[in-house]
Amino acid sequence: MDIEKLEQMYEGKAKKVFRTNDPDLCWIEYKDDATAFDGKKKGTIGNKGILNNRISAHFFNLLESKGVQTHFVKQVNDREQIVRAVKIIMVEVVVRNIAAGSLSKRIGLPEGTMLPRSVLEFYYKDDALGDPLINDYHIQALDLATPEQIKVMSETALKVNEILRDYLRDKKIDLIDFKLEFGVYKGEVILADEISPDTCRFWDIETKEKLDKDRFRRDLGNVEEAYREVLKRLTGETI
Ligand code: UDP
Repeated sequence: MDIEKLEQMYEGKAKKVFRTNDPDLCWIEYKDDATAFDGKKKGTIGNKGILNNRISAHFFNLLESKGVQTHFVKQVNDREQIVRAVKIIMVEVVVRNIAAGSLSKRIGLPEGTMLPRSVLEFYYKDDALGDPLINDYHIQALDLATPEQIKVMSETALKVNEILRDYLRDKKIDLIDFKLEFGVYKGEVILADEISPDTCRFWDIETKEKLDKDRFRRDLGNVEEAYREVLKRLTGETI
């Protein structure tokens, strides 16, 4: 059966989600829109939708090849991919290898400080509350996930970290930190959302140049060029 794109179900900050003629599948469109600081800073990054669609598809394929279950099914064109229709767990899972961003602010470790052990964090996905940092007790208090689901998310996030860190080191990129989202599909917790320079911090291994959304957040310039550089290092492709 050919998969058909039907009506839009939802529009997020970086992607639109459409229903398809298969209730188990959704159709995702990656947009050029960029937001930061809980949506207070808004803009666009040229060709971001195309770049992140490709980068995300590449990472999902890599993870699937290493035994990580993801929502990714296939890339259909420049900006669109088909994914499994999951029910998103309202928890953002962050893994950190080097201190940066909100961790540096919160606990005072200067940006760039190597963490002796990877740090795993949970945030409550709630715009009105500003995505607060929570722990597994809060997750259960809010009934966001069961203890078993928290265990799967934690173990998967740490496994994804090992896979991506090793892979990116070969591409001369340091994986500073990243955010994952998970969803429930036919009773199983699988990796969802996207993995891209919007959701990860990537630094050039030699120069420490930022190749991610911090260029947009901090007005560093050459934002699109940085995303292009990531795609080029991962796949050799230029768009
Ligand atoms: N992140 C994200 N979405 C968010 C918050 C964070 O993708 O809503 C990513 C961010 O790009 C970084 C990591 O999660 O790779 C850790 O972000 P941090 O907590 O330092 O927050 P930020 O400095 O981005 O506010």
